[in-house]
Amino acid sequence: MSRRRENRHRSRQGADSFRCANCSLDVPLSAPGTRHRNHCPNCLFSKHVDERVPGDRASDCGARMEPIAVTVRGDGEWVLIHRCTGCDALVANRSAGDDNPLLLMRTATRPLATPPFPLERLARL
Ligand SMILES: [Zn+2]
Ligand SMILES: [Zn+2]
Repeated sequence: MSRRRENRHRSRQGADSFRCANCSLDVPLSAPGTRHRNHCPNCLFSKHVDERVPGDRASDCGARMEPIAVTVRGDGEWVLIHRCTGCDALVANRSAGDDNPLLLMRTATRPLATPPFPLERLARL
């Protein structure tokens, strides 16, 4: 009888991919247009692991971060604003080239869908 060899592939955990804390997608760390992928391209959620600089891994919060808004930098680059569901911290993250475009647009236009004043007021300006 031959002894069966276990040929386990060691997964380099955290080295080249991470699992999304929101939708459980396995996300490769390399992303088009950014050096530090810090959010899921599918649901745009992030995880609170960085404290000051992207990639510093200095925070011990670890809660999910919800994409709440989009802002635009001077060069036209879209930046996602994430709010931590655990500690309410706000973090700006560059959007990546393969981010879900539908969710990006939905996040960017959310305030327009719920204006804080009657739209008729615009006609009187
Ligand atoms: Zn996700
Ligand atoms: Zn947090």
